[in-house]
Amino acid sequence: MMPSLTTDIPTRTIKIRYFLFLSATVFILSCKTTAVTKVVEETIVVQKDIPLREYSVQSVLWQQLSAEYKALSYQAFNLAQMQLDEMIAAEDQSEKPFAIVTDIDETVLDNSPYNAKMIEDDREYESVSWKAWGMLEQATAVPGALDFFNYAQSKGVEVFYISNRKEIQKAETMSNLKKLGFPYVDEEHFLLRTAESGKEARRQIVSENKNIIMLLGDNLSDFSDLFDDKSTKERNQVVEELKADFGKKFIVLPNPMYGDWEMNGIYEDSYQWTPAQKDSLRKAKLISY
Ligand SMILES: [Mg+2]
Repeated sequence: MMPSLTTDIPTRTIKIRYFLFLSATVFILSCKTTAVTKVVEETIVVQKDIPLREYSVQSVLWQQLSAEYKALSYQAFNLAQMQLDEMIAAEDQSEKPFAIVTDIDETVLDNSPYNAKMIEDDREYESVSWKAWGMLEQATAVPGALDFFNYAQSKGVEVFYISNRKEIQKAETMSNLKKLGFPYVDEEHFLLRTAESGKEARRQIVSENKNIIMLLGDNLSDFSDLFDDKSTKERNQVVEELKADFGKKFIVLPNPMYGDWEMNGIYEDSYQWTPAQKDSLRKAKLISY
């Protein structure tokens, strides 16, 4: 998810302080991000009040209202079912039984109301409000998810949920999924975040006794650690290298609202940007002509 931030918009009196901080940041990051930080430096002086989440209105609306979002989700799960059928028909499960690994947020559960609430309240992501949303157990299923995972169960293929929701969110997350009717919602099949956000160690645990034939997620780190902590350029390069796996072993769900593409990409893996700096980074990274 997105970073927690101090959300004060710089006023005239503290603007100089931001500028000094920015100058130090520009120096430290100059080797890597000279062009971007230069734009930030130029733009911050003229920034006025920026609603913190205004920029995400369109992406939340798209997820909540567009028929295209639903169509893409159905497409992903229809493809997943076709692949599953093919693998079951083609492969011997005598050594290790097949298993499917799935992410939860924006893959199984739709959290767009939380993102809408952040816009409404003009607040950034915070672990406290995220936990509170989870405890409501009101997240709905991503279109097609319920049918697919129950189909997998009907074929005897176990589903493991590897999510970066924290262990303290386990009870309400399991309850939310159970109410919706998802299979394999139990301790054995739930691997939430403990120490690290990387999912590879948890995938290895599943692999000890199962053959992971498919992974589903909205964030590329749901598929391989080759995507962990990578820049936009590197993430795009790895996608090129692994392009044959998408739609086969890797099933990707759309998530325009948040993800590593934003945190590690646009914001360069830094939680220190002010809202005005983030606004400038977003605009600086647009590809125009
Ligand atoms: Mg996710």
